[in-house]
Amino acid sequence: MYRLASPVRKNDTVVVITGRDRGKRGRVLRVLPDKTRVIVEGVNFIKRHTKANPQKNIKGGIIEREAAVNASNVQLICPECGAPTRIGSKRLDDGHRVRVCRKCNGVVDK
Ligand SMILES: [Zn+2]
Repeated sequence: MYRLASPVRKNDTVVVITGRDRGKRGRVLRVLPDKTRVIVEGVNFIKRHTKANPQKNIKGGIIEREAAVNASNVQLICPECGAPTRIGSKRLDDGHRVRVCRKCNGVVDK
């Protein structure tokens, strides 16, 4: 099945639009290789139990870290107008393709 790749990229600021963390904003730390999931700073914390491994200097216990969220559950915040927005794309005169905000037509990629 063809799936549209998310237009969200690393270091974008996004807002969560559904689920437990709805309304939270954060920076995209990582886009997973399948491009349908992203890891957002401060969003979707999960507790993970880890076993101590003295050889690797890992302490046992419970650590909390961000888990991936579905890219369709987040929306990009436009750096130009500051609003959550849908993304279009535009080809520049020099042939580069950039992402643009559908609301203010500002260029998202610098
Ligand atoms: Zn905008």
